[in-house]
Amino acid sequence: MIRQVKGKTPRRHPPKKTSNNQKDPVGVYCRVRPLGAEDEECCIEVISNTTIQLHAPDGLKANRNGEFKETQYSFKKVFGIKTTQRELFEDVAKPLVEDLIYCKNGLLFTYGVTGSGKTHTMTGSPGQGGLLPRSLDMIFNSIGPYQAKRYVFKPDDKNGMEVQNQVDALLDRQKRESQTTVPKTPNSRRVDPEFADMISPEEAFTADGVDEDSSYSVFVSYIEIYNNYIYDLLEETPFDPIKPKPPQSKLLREDQNHNMYVAGCTEVEVKSTEEAFEVFWRGQKKRRIANTQLNRESSRSHSVFIIKLAQAPLDADGDNVLQDKNQVNVSQLCLVDLAGSERTSRTRAEGSRLREAGNINQSLMTLRTCIEVLRENQMCGTNKMVPYRDSKVTHLFKNYFDGEGKVRMVVCVNPKADDYEETLLVMRFAEMTQEVEVARPVDRPICGFAAGRRQRNQAFKEELTRRLEDRGGPVNGEIPTILSQLLQSFPSLPASEIAGPNDDVTLPRLIEALEKRHKIRQMMVEEYNKTANMLKSMLQEQDGNVVAKENFISEQRGRLGEKDKMIQNQKNEIDRLEKKSKMLEYKIDILQKTSNIHEEDKRSLQNELESREQRLQRELSDKRRMESRMQGIVSDTKLKWEKECERRVNAKQLEMQNKLWVKDEKLKQLKAIVTEGKSENRQPQRPSREKDKVPPKRSASPSPVPTVPPVRPLHRRSHSAGGERWVDHKPNTNVDLDTVMQPNLPNAIKVSAPSEKALSKCDKYVLTHQEVASDGEIQTKLIKGEVFKTRGGGQSVQFTDIETLKQEYPASASRKRRSSESGPSHEGERTDGDWTDVETRCSVAVEMRAGSNLGPGYQHHGYPKRRKP
Ligand code: ADP
Ligand code: MG
Repeated sequence: MIRQVKGKTPRRHPPKKTSNNQKDPVGVYCRVRPLGAEDEECCIEVISNTTIQLHAPDGLKANRNGEFKETQYSFKKVFGIKTTQRELFEDVAKPLVEDLIYCKNGLLFTYGVTGSGKTHTMTGSPGQGGLLPRSLDMIFNSIGPYQAKRYVFKPDDKNGMEVQNQVDALLDRQKRESQTTVPKTPNSRRVDPEFADMISPEEAFTADGVDEDSSYSVFVSYIEIYNNYIYDLLEETPFDPIKPKPPQSKLLREDQNHNMYVAGCTEVEVKSTEEAFEVFWRGQKKRRIANTQLNRESSRSHSVFIIKLAQAPLDADGDNVLQDKNQVNVSQLCLVDLAGSERTSRTRAEGSRLREAGNINQSLMTLRTCIEVLRENQMCGTNKMVPYRDSKVTHLFKNYFDGEGKVRMVVCVNPKADDYEETLLVMRFAEMTQEVEVARPVDRPICGFAAGRRQRNQAFKEELTRRLEDRGGPVNGEIPTILSQLLQSFPSLPASEIAGPNDDVTLPRLIEALEKRHKIRQMMVEEYNKTANMLKSMLQEQDGNVVAKENFISEQRGRLGEKDKMIQNQKNEIDRLEKKSKMLEYKIDILQKTSNIHEEDKRSLQNELESREQRLQRELSDKRRMESRMQGIVSDTKLKWEKECERRVNAKQLEMQNKLWVKDEKLKQLKAIVTEGKSENRQPQRPSREKDKVPPKRSASPSPVPTVPPVRPLHRRSHSAGGERWVDHKPNTNVDLDTVMQPNLPNAIKVSAPSEKALSKCDKYVLTHQEVASDGEIQTKLIKGEVFKTRGGGQSVQFTDIETLKQEYPASASRKRRSSESGPSHEGERTDGDWTDVETRCSVAVEMRAGSNLGPGYQHHGYPKRRKP
């Protein structure tokens, strides 16, 4: 009859039932790998065995304040570049393996950017085995002698574990061996050279206090999560070289204890480190082949290696595994090599790959979100739903975070500059993860049997063998020689058929034979009794021994109990203190971080203030400069326009005055001619009073007149050698001005009105003309001309020159000068006398014809020889 017992697997309770309220933070470790040969800049410095410091690389050095960015991150422990795989194992994984052996679950994962050393840490490199082979090695070193035979423990397909008796296990073994090529020699040293040197025997660890009265079995599974699909890497599928079947993905299920498991996942029972690692390597190869065939990037997938340890106590005899489902314990250790934590942009993801990369990121993002929510729930006492179900990775490990085992994470970092920004994100995640606490797993219940069963059973077997050997008899259930000899000497019964009434031979022979047999039987009984007595006494002796030993043990146990109590008390005290110190450390940490943040804020605000003040100052001075410049421009412009206006007014005035003067002059000459004509006829000498009474209140500054062809040459009167005779024409209206500089004209004929008679006697003519200049002074003009005889017998005067005499008062001297001096005038300043300068002098001719009624024709020529621009 097959008796199967199902055990609880893994021995966990639904989260609500957890009676244990002690919690531990997730253990987060940091491992810094050495800088690659091609990298130059190192951005990470290990500053203590719990702290690292990140420096921004040169290109990124300055933050907005121009400061150097340096950030520190603390971990449970930091492993620098010189850390050996053994040291890392001892600190990180050894406690988890010990827990596994003591029936507690564990989750260990590596997290980091691709190339940061996750796989090196988890699996290892040639000659440097990682956490995985070392964990396997420690497990087998510890439970080696106490392993159950193959198929005694048998996984069901619902995450449970069955126990079979020896016979069924044997049958299963035989069946299995006949159909597959399961490694038959688990202890053979034929190891794949690819990983043969991963662990060296000198570096082996063994757990203390393994329960010898239990039987153990190890099962391994190896899965890969790619693109949120779960693949079984140990599944044995018949390989079809023509049409290779794509790998089938697996589903996650929840068992009756609410634990998540991969449905239908292969669990291989392994009996040694080598065998286990060989299985792992098989999966690894399969993974590599699948990645190559499907053109996948291995860094984008999560690999999960699950080590399950089944254990059950031996029965009371210490001979067999106890066939009681309640006594089977299964614990598991998950070793997870997560996908590279970098963002999608870092990979050269395109097209369909983009979706894959996105999913992988998604699963890591879900992991981050779950951690975030867990932390928030724990810190703020909230009860938000943790989105474990959003990705396969988190869903599979949900139970761990809900408090079913220790969780540890090794954060791998590459100190190269290229990774800096990704590393920052990794650090933030690590920091957050450390703040999450998971419930401490409870101790397993102790089975009711006395300890030392295995040993006692062993000892008994040995003793029996020895004694039986001592008596020269064969052992192990064969019939002892002495008995067989006796049996052989049993006489056979003679013929018992009586021949007739007279047969007296048969009966006595029979009687004799039977008596002989009876004797032999008695001897056998005696022998049997002897042996039984011997055995009895042996057993009694043993019993006595056992009782004595048990007494001794119970005595010792009593003492042990006391000591245990003491130790427990002290442990509690230590725990309390540790918790307190952790709490305080944590508080200090938070305070420090807060103060750092505040300081940084303060600095940045100060800087901003300064820069704003400077800008304000600059703007103020700019404004002032601008103001003064504007004022300058305004006054300049004003001055310029004032000058320009003045200039234009003056020019206009001059022009108008010139015009007026010319008209005046014309009028005067006309008048003079008219008057002269009349006086020739009637009163030639009478001056025109009305005309001369008031000199025109204008200054004569004729503006240049367009050029006219030169005066036609007239016949010039010859004059006597040695002197010219002048007609000095001074109208009566002229005022005597007491001028010092008076023209001196010897032999002049003075007239108040021009007369033909006087003109005929002279060859020069001068008219003294007075008028009021623009400044109100009286100005005298000497208009000179030459007298010609006309063909008609008359006289004509051709004006050749005008001299202006002007009186000035010292106050206005700077602006007025005598035009006759024709000195250079100030630049840009036009004086009234300009037109009298030699260069601008005009020639004026007045022609008079005797007896003509038409009045004098006149020619008025004025042309500037050169004008200043
Ligand atoms: P990941 O799995 O994070 O992508 P790997 O573990 O594959 O990174 O590491 C990338 C390379 O760096 C490998 O060649 C590995 O041997 C090397 N490496 C990683 N960590 C270390 C270390 N601590 N010491 C020496 N070499 C390392
Ligand atoms: Mg890797």
